[in-house]
Amino acid sequence: MTDVLFRYHCAECGNTGEASLPDDSPEWDTSQCAKCGAPDLERTICPDPARAIWWDELMHASRWWARSCVEPEQAALLLSGINPNKDPKGTPANPEAHRELLAEFTAIQKTDPRIRTLAQWLDVARTKGIPYDRWIDEWMEAAGIGSGGSKKARAAPVSNESKEKTLPPRQQMILQTIRSLGKEPTALPVPPKGKGGVKAEVWKVLSKSGASKDTFDNDWQALRDGDYIADAPANEPADPPTT
Ligand SMILES: [Zn+2]
Repeated sequence: MTDVLFRYHCAECGNTGEASLPDDSPEWDTSQCAKCGAPDLERTICPDPARAIWWDELMHASRWWARSCVEPEQAALLLSGINPNKDPKGTPANPEAHRELLAEFTAIQKTDPRIRTLAQWLDVARTKGIPYDRWIDEWMEAAGIGSGGSKKARAAPVSNESKEKTLPPRQQMILQTIRSLGKEPTALPVPPKGKGGVKAEVWKVLSKSGASKDTFDNDWQALRDGDYIADAPANEPADPPTT
């Protein structure tokens, strides 16, 4: 069991801060502001470079994630907690789940042959409800990529998803961070003059992962150029109040 660091924000009283909870704590689902008691406290999981590096070394997580084509057999092993680079035959901790993943992936590849990424195989496992090894959720959480599991803060809907998965991981991370702050990347509220707005908030989160500001600025501009990031229309309320 590991503790997960997160930032919290209360929409009612504005109370913010950082805290950590054990990974499997029931408190993830019963969030309440400690100050005013308002329900639905927003939590944003903080990227944790040390944990991300751990999975990168053990599972080559970033490399498999970035690979443009992952075979069904490789995906089934990876999602069973085995790195095919290190252990191509592997003995999964849960052989039944591994067989189920392999059967499903092989069937899909046969009926709908195309090049698939690890992210796409993971989607299949999640959509079909096939149990998979949680290491990948932990890694995504730690690396600040995508939405890992059931925690409220990561439940933001993803549009444009398949297109985004072709972006470099750093740029995906920016889009995911925007969503974790409760904003839609293609409808960012325009900040009042002199204020930093969403970009500054995102940088505050991502600067902890050791990224350089120049790289971040370049990635942000590339996302704007590709229309992945856009401002909300000026005549509409950018951030409708929730009741
Ligand atoms: Zn509050």
